[in-house]
Amino acid sequence: MRFQFPSEVRGGLMIAHHFLRVNLSDRAVKVETIPEETCKLLIGGRGFGISYLYQEQSSKVDPFGEENKLLLITGVLGGTAAQSCSRWMVCTKSPLTGGFARSVAGADFGAWMRFAGYDFILIEGRSEKPVYVHVTREGCNIHDAGELWGRNTAETQDWFYERHGKNTRVACIGPGGEKLVRYAAIVSGRRTASRCGVGTVMGSKNLKAVAITAQRNLKLHDPETFKQLAKEQNDFYRSNKRFQHHQEMGTTETQDLTNALGIYPVRNYRYGQQDNCQKIFGEEYRKFRTGDFSCYNCSGRCGKAHAVSAGPYAGASSEGPEYESIWVFTGSIDSTSIEATIAADQLCDDLGLDTISTGNCIGFAYELYEKGIIDREDTDGLELVYGNHSAMISLIKKIASREGLGNLLAEGTMRAAAEIGHGAEDCAIHVKGLELPGYEPRGAKSHGFNYATSNIGGSHCYGYAGQEIFGTTVPRAINRFAEAENADIVVYNQHVTAMSEVGIVCGFARAWGWFPQIFSKMLVAATGVEEFGHEDYLWKVGERIVNLERAFNVREGFGREQDRLPKRMLTEPLHTKGAPGEGQMVREMEEFLDRYYQISRVDKGRGSHS
Ligand code: SF4
Repeated sequence: MRFQFPSEVRGGLMIAHHFLRVNLSDRAVKVETIPEETCKLLIGGRGFGISYLYQEQSSKVDPFGEENKLLLITGVLGGTAAQSCSRWMVCTKSPLTGGFARSVAGADFGAWMRFAGYDFILIEGRSEKPVYVHVTREGCNIHDAGELWGRNTAETQDWFYERHGKNTRVACIGPGGEKLVRYAAIVSGRRTASRCGVGTVMGSKNLKAVAITAQRNLKLHDPETFKQLAKEQNDFYRSNKRFQHHQEMGTTETQDLTNALGIYPVRNYRYGQQDNCQKIFGEEYRKFRTGDFSCYNCSGRCGKAHAVSAGPYAGASSEGPEYESIWVFTGSIDSTSIEATIAADQLCDDLGLDTISTGNCIGFAYELYEKGIIDREDTDGLELVYGNHSAMISLIKKIASREGLGNLLAEGTMRAAAEIGHGAEDCAIHVKGLELPGYEPRGAKSHGFNYATSNIGGSHCYGYAGQEIFGTTVPRAINRFAEAENADIVVYNQHVTAMSEVGIVCGFARAWGWFPQIFSKMLVAATGVEEFGHEDYLWKVGERIVNLERAFNVREGFGREQDRLPKRMLTEPLHTKGAPGEGQMVREMEEFLDRYYQISRVDKGRGSHS
């Protein structure tokens, strides 16, 4: 199937927004213009994602069905000289939560989408057979992907580079997405849109990959001003100490900090500090480092590559692991093996699995094994005892192939616990079905309340509370053990994240002194829309996005009952092994929600908009 674009659409024009609609059922492809009103109200990026999903998709559609839409989205500043603004995002209905899904990735794919001339690619329908979509500036083809089905994500991308050349960028799934593991990732380069099961939706459509072949080509409203602003942004970066440190270490030493704070989840969120944690500190990771890499146009270069040269995992290498993977493959099973963590990270990237949900499901299984809720018969002979990292590696492979216990764990902790019963529900650590990340909610409570109220479930990225981890004082300093009194901070963090994701600004880069002042000026220089230059306008857009996402979930049946933390956080005291926070629990869940809804202008009784 070949579709030729009209000539006026070729090229990444920033002041006229277009998207590509690809229907895999009838193989129809068309370019559509985004209405001016939508551009004004939601600006771009995540704003377009929720807008189209909310307007076009009926409620209660099956996330695996052909009615579910999948949007691959770039930000307004994607592909420009603005640094750290070329990340990309996937929005769909999540097969894990049944609600709104938003998952962000790095590498170059977002810039390439812009070069091809699009704000997003909307995939709908379902192909009968495996296919891939190839987009160029001239047209779009849907090809048979039979020979790619079953290949891992590294092999798949190599195949594309050979077939379509070096100016091609690919977003693809691995065997995990093909087997419909509920938390499958979409991989591009070695960066992943990993959360919420976005790769699962791609697999359910029999879509192996979306490839874009394009060359740099952008038309900005005011290129000279934009160039000057990009220089100013660069000056901010250079003079910022946090930027310099991030450039040096990436996230490979966040575990030093979270252990010291007593918020490093160990043994499935029962402890907040790991014994012998210094064995996995950043300086230890440095010994395995082989290089660094970045997303498109970011001098942060926070991606740190590592390789193992000796021992049972010799030959393993990964363009990571980043903090979340470092944590989930050590804390969850109480291992301090860096080598096993690198191997696990590589496996998840190759197989196309979300490391956070994968490691959580494994940590959940280890706790069930310890408590005698499952035994060796259930694990096909694997000894799930703490510290046994080789069993973790075996379980990752079983999850991706849906074999034995892996088939159950591939459903995520919420569904696996319901199936197993016998108290397994108390060990399932998730919000709305999405497994939690590596910041213990009882010791970092604004993080916890962000998980509880996030419209995508247990994600730190929905409203990261830098105030608790790095002592950020914007908008004010906070006590990390305080609860309802920090509801305004949770709202602030969620809104500022949504606001920045119209441009899909990297969450790290927001802290380097240029945001939102330079950002807002860049939006004006890129698009010519003067309103985008006003910060209060941007705040309203951020709030609008979060509220629209809540409205999407309310339509799916979500309410106050879904906005809560796992029972463990409310009933079991945290043990921190000497770090601060011993005995902490979440005690003001209801008071927090009342306050959060009041500030967000949400109906207190139902958690929906009044
Ligand atoms: S700081 Fe790191 S994750 Fe963020 S855009 Fe730069 S390279 Fe990518």
